[in-house]
Amino acid sequence: MKRPETRIIHTRGQRLGSVTVNPPVERASTVLFQTEKALYDSKPGYGRMGLSLHRELEAALCELEGASHVRLASNGLQACVLAIASCVEAGGHVLFPDSAYGPTARFCERRLKIMGVSATRYDPRIGGGIADMIRPETQAIFIESPGSLTFELSDIPAITTVARERGIPTIVDNTWGAGYFLKPLALGADIVVHAMTKYIVGHADAFGGAVITSDNRLYSSICATSEDYGIGLAPDDAYLALRGLRTLHTRLHAHEAAALDLANWLAARPEVSEVLHPALPSSPDHTLWKRDFTGSSGLFGVILNAVPEGGMDRFLAELHLFGMGFSWGGFESLLIPCDEQLTRSTGNWTDNRAGPLLRIHVGLEAVSDLKAELDTAFAALKGPA
Ligand SMILES: *Cc1c(COP(=O)(O)O)cnc(C)c1O
Repeated sequence: MKRPETRIIHTRGQRLGSVTVNPPVERASTVLFQTEKALYDSKPGYGRMGLSLHRELEAALCELEGASHVRLASNGLQACVLAIASCVEAGGHVLFPDSAYGPTARFCERRLKIMGVSATRYDPRIGGGIADMIRPETQAIFIESPGSLTFELSDIPAITTVARERGIPTIVDNTWGAGYFLKPLALGADIVVHAMTKYIVGHADAFGGAVITSDNRLYSSICATSEDYGIGLAPDDAYLALRGLRTLHTRLHAHEAAALDLANWLAARPEVSEVLHPALPSSPDHTLWKRDFTGSSGLFGVILNAVPEGGMDRFLAELHLFGMGFSWGGFESLLIPCDEQLTRSTGNWTDNRAGPLLRIHVGLEAVSDLKAELDTAFAALKGPA
C-alpha cells in the first residue's frame, strides 16, 4: 500500500475526457438534462449538492481519514453543527469539552437548547471518567483534541470505548491534527469533522468544512440533516480545499518543525510562564500525544508571566510578521491575546495564571526572523527604553 501522502496526491475522480492535473471548477446552480427521466433521476441534479469537483474532494478526504463517506459544508463551524445536529433529537443530551472551539460551544448551549436538547461541558482531561457524565438520554459526545486556546488533549480511546459500550456516537473535531497527525476513526470515533479553512485550504483564502464517517447509518442521518438545512460548499472553495490537500503533508511538516523550534525557544524565555504544546515533554499530555499523534501542527499557546502596565500594547505594537487576527493554518504567522474569548467552567483558567494567555500560529517564515521579532517585542513589553 502506498503512503497516505502519495495516495492523497493521486486521488482523481471520473473526468470527462480531459486530463488536466487539477479538475475544472464547475460554477453551477443549474445542471441541464436531455430527458424528464434524467432530470428527476440524476444525482446530483442540482449544484447545491456539489458536482464532480466536490466528489473528487470527498474521495481525497476519505483517503485522508481512512473513511468511506464525506459530506461537505461551507465552513468548519457548519461541519461541527451538522455533525452534532445529525445525532440528536428533542429530549436528548450532548456532552462537549470545556475547551471546545467557542462557536461550537455556543451552538451546544444556545441552539441545542432551543431544539430541546441539553448540553453539558466536560473537563477535556476526563478520560474514562466521562462514564459518570453520561445520562440515559445522552445522544452524542463531542471531542476536540487538543482543545481550542488551552490545548489540553483528551484520551480519545478511553472516551470512545465508554461511548461504544453504550451505543453513543462520538464526534472528533480534527482540525488541529488536520487528518494527518491524528486518525480519530482508528481510535474508535464515529464521526470526524474538519475546518478545512485552516490547514487543508492552508492559505487563508477560503472556507470549508467536512463531516466524515464510515458508519452508514450515521451517514444517512448526516445527509438528511444537510439536505434539510441546505448545507453545501461553494465550488471555488471546494477547488481551493482540494488543491490545499495535495500539499498538506509538506506544509504540515514545515509548520511542525518551526512551531517546535519556537515553542522551545519561548519556554526558555524569562517572560514566559508556560508553553501549552502537547509535543513538548513538559506538557502534562505528552504521553497521550506520543501514543495517539504522529506529529504536531503549528498552533500552540503561551502563558506569559505578569505583564507590567501597558506592556501588552507595547508588545503587540512591535509585531509585524505576526499578524493579529482570527483563524489559522495559513502560510503567515499569527499571534492573538486570548483572555477576552476564554470561557471555561472547569479548571482554573482565570485565577491561577501568572499572566495573559497568547495563541501563536507559526507560519512558513524563517524561524530566526520570528524569534528576532519576538525578542524586540519582549524588550518593549518590559517598559519604554
Ligand atoms: C476554526 C475552527 C472551526 C471553525 O471553522 P470555520 O471554517 O472558521 O467556521 C471549528 N473547529 C476548530 C477547532 C477551529 O479551529
